[in-house]
Amino acid sequence: MSTPGQEDYLEAIWVLTEQKGYARVTDLSEVLAISPASASKMVRRLHEAGLLTYERYRGFSFTGEGKKQGRLLYLRHRILVRLLTQLEMGSEADVLKIVEGIEHHFDVTRLDQLERLVLYIERHPGWWRKFLDSPMPADEQERRPQGPPP
Ligand code: MN
Repeated sequence: MSTPGQEDYLEAIWVLTEQKGYARVTDLSEVLAISPASASKMVRRLHEAGLLTYERYRGFSFTGEGKKQGRLLYLRHRILVRLLTQLEMGSEADVLKIVEGIEHHFDVTRLDQLERLVLYIERHPGWWRKFLDSPMPADEQERRPQGPPP
């Protein structure tokens, strides 16, 4: 994983807060595999951005806006995990790796459509199995570029 960005922090803080009721810099540095110094720097940056309230020696917590964003980012993560799992993209670890790579590019305001699709898939396994087992349409195969690009 490259250096975790702001969204990874907000997502991790959301998860920690849900699990334990609070999050500390040491928890964050553990979960995100970064130094406590980097974690603390980002916490101060999120404080300045109005997403966390931070008091030296007393830890930090979400503002209303931070909480809203953290929740959405975690939701996005979970929906993408469920979608790629249904697509049989590999082991749990494989799926996680792909999601960590693509999630930041998916607009959180479009989550509803994606969630509807995932729910439909999960509730119609026969329909989905039929899709998974279907070959690529022949005309589509022909249209695909052959070999390496010129
Ligand atoms: Mn994530």
